[in-house]
Parts: sequence; C-alpha cells; structure tokens
Amino acid sequence: MSLIVSKFGGISLADVESVKKTADIILSDPSRRYVVVSAPGIRSGDEIRVTDMLYICHSRYANRENFTEVLTKIEERYNEIISGLGVSVDMHSAISDLKKNLFIGRSNEFIVSRGEYIMGQILADYLGWPFVDAVKLIVFNRDGTLNLEKSLAAVKEVLSGMDHAVVPGFYGAIAGSTTNIKTFERGGGDVTAAVIARAMEADLCEKWAEATEVFSADPAIVKNPEIIRNITYAELRELTYMGIDIVYEEMILILQDTGISLSIRNIHHAEDKGTLITATLPPEIGRNVAACIAGRRNFKIVHIHKFGLNKTVGIGRKVFGIFSDRSISCEHYLSGIYQFSIVVKSPLFDLKRAEIIKALNDAIEPESIGVETDLSLIAVIGEGMGTVKGIFAKIFNAIASANVKVRMIEQGADDLNILIGVYDEDFDVTVRALYEAMIQQ
Ligand code: ASP
Repeated sequence: MSLIVSKFGGISLADVESVKKTADIILSDPSRRYVVVSAPGIRSGDEIRVTDMLYICHSRYANRENFTEVLTKIEERYNEIISGLGVSVDMHSAISDLKKNLFIGRSNEFIVSRGEYIMGQILADYLGWPFVDAVKLIVFNRDGTLNLEKSLAAVKEVLSGMDHAVVPGFYGAIAGSTTNIKTFERGGGDVTAAVIARAMEADLCEKWAEATEVFSADPAIVKNPEIIRNITYAELRELTYMGIDIVYEEMILILQDTGISLSIRNIHHAEDKGTLITATLPPEIGRNVAACIAGRRNFKIVHIHKFGLNKTVGIGRKVFGIFSDRSISCEHYLSGIYQFSIVVKSPLFDLKRAEIIKALNDAIEPESIGVETDLSLIAVIGEGMGTVKGIFAKIFNAIASANVKVRMIEQGADDLNILIGVYDEDFDVTVRALYEAMIQQ
C-alpha cells in the first residue's frame, strides 16, 4: 500500500469545523498514515495564531509583565476545539504544565512548541491514532540546525512499528534531551513532514494549507495567470529564490533527491488536486516553453573596470573577499573582458558602499567602479528551457516590444532559468511581456 505523510497548517486546525474537515481528508485515503500538525491558526480577521500567542506569553513572563490574559485566550481556543470534538484532552493540566514550564525558566522555543504539542494530542485523540512527541523524532544540533541523519534514524526506529501516528510539527530536541527543545523557523512544520516522509520512504508528502496556488506569474501584475499544476523541485527552488514562499526551503532540500513527490493542497478546496512537485516532469505534461516568470526588485550592480582584468590572477578572490568580509552575499556575478560585475541585494551594501568602493580601489586599482541601483531581476523559469532553440530571440523580442532596456542577462549552466536585469520601474511591464510571450498559450 502506498504511504502518504500529510502536513496540515494552522488554518486547517483553527477551529472545530476545520479540524473535522481535516480529519475527513485524512480518513478519506488509507494511505495517509502519518500526519504532522501545526498549532491552531487564524480563524478570521485580525486574530493571531496560537504560536504567536505563545511567543507573547513567554516574552511577557520574561519581562515580568502580566501574561494571564493571553494564557486564558490560549486555553479558551483549545477548549472550544476540545469540547466541539468531544475529545478527552485535559486542557487544565496542559495549561498548568505550561505555567510550570514558564516558572522554571524554559526557553521560548519550549513554550511555543506547546502549540503543536497540544494540537497533536487533540487530533490524535479525535482520530483514535497514537500521538508521538516530536522530541523522539526530530533531532537538532547544539547550534540549532537540524541533524538530518539522526532524525531520519530516530523516525525510522520509532514509526516503523506504527501503522499510524500524529506528530506535532515545528520542533524537536537537542540529541539526548527531551526538554532542550528547538524549533524551526516559522512555518517549519513543513520540515518535520519532509523528514518523516524521507525516513519512512513515503510515496508522497502533502502540504495542506490555504492560498496554495502556484501561479505562473504574480497575479498582482498579470491578470489571471495560469496555475502551475506540475513543477519540478529545481524549478520550485528557483521560485523560492525569487521570494515565492510555497514551501519551506529545507523541505525541498530534504525531498528533492528521494523520489518522493510533494503535493501542495488547498484545505478550502480538498477536491482540487493542487500542484505536484516531482524530480522530473511527467512526460505527458506539455508546456509552452517556460513554467513561470518571477522576479525580485531592488538589486544593485557594482561594475569594476580594469584593463587586463582577464589576465590578472586572483582578482575574483580579492573582490569576493571584500564583500564577504562585510557579510554581503554576492548573489550573481558577470564578467566581461575588462569588466567584472557583482550583483548584490543586501541592505548592508547601502550602509557600507563607500567603504567597499575604497577597499576595491585599494585592492585592485581599477580604472573605474560604477554602481547601478534600483535593478530588478526577472527569471524565466522552466526545466530544460535553456536548450530550446530561439529562446533568447523570443525573450528579447518581447522585452524590446515592451520598450524596456535590458541591463544584464544570465543563463544558469543548468538550463533551468534565464535571468534578466531591468530597472525597477520596468518590472511590471517586463513581467507582463514575458508572460505573454513565454507562457500564455
Ligand atoms: N506553528 C508554527 C508557525 O506558526 C509552525 C507551522 O505552522 O508550521 O509558524
């Protein structure tokens, strides 16, 4: 029988109705055997998530402020779900444990982890499935990073003997401890699901959330862009770089080489198959050249001109060193015969611009250094796209027809993506022109 690991985000567990709907989804396919949960999310309006309430609770306690009101709200949110579902989780003792843990000085990561811990118990009770605390499965290193190897081994050992389990997402513990809890970054329950899917060699990992559509261009710029139904992990990584947050990046890294597919599903439209992410595209998927157009604004390019640069050994090392010494990432670099250009995004560059230019002048004595700001990078993304004949003609015809000046181009060696730099003011018009030429059928 195939095996599915499903992660449900906070919206899917925000109240009684959504938990019931989530349980129906889980039970509608017997392959869904391991379920990862978030803490209850926003029900409506300007309400905040339980995770945020727990952060507030800890910081109020740490600052000796009154935290009772927020603790009561947390208790009420869970009690409403518990009584609506008719489960027997003892919220009174969960809250007194929470208080006890605050009083003995547990970290904020410990305190916020209780959001998923309690929700996991509630869902497990409702489904009649076992609950497995994530401290037994997800192992962190002392520096707060995930220890993937140990986590995979722990998951295999604990879950192999279990047909079903509900596991709280978002946290784990330092190796060998059950109280030294660490959390992932916000939204990190995705990573818990990816680790479990990989350890248990699942066929599919699912992420259920709201607003999950993966658009082929930003709907704020392109009217009714197509929804991408199939995308590869590599393409998704490019989209993530462009700031399109579909899943947590580490989830992609954990799953991309495993043969496990990832499915992004919308909790409000369970009947919709959503978007499927795979290592390679199924052969039946036909595309009009590119999968999507995505971009980011506000880059800067530093151009360094020096005669004989191509023959000078060690220039690159010196230039990169100047940026890295100041914790600035060189996101892209382009070279001409006598020119070397570095593309940066970090706001630190604006703060340290004069210092960097001086360091570059001292280190490599160039003829000139120029800085261009307000630059956007727009990527035309599509697996194998770089090998398509006439692709550049198509792209640049579209951009020229939109009367936009191109400031840089870059084609990755992986044929996945062609990056075009234009001024920020031309961002929207370029995205629309590229969408029409490369995606619209
Ligand atoms: N509950 C956590 C958050 O609000 C983690 C998650 O939802 O995945 O960020």
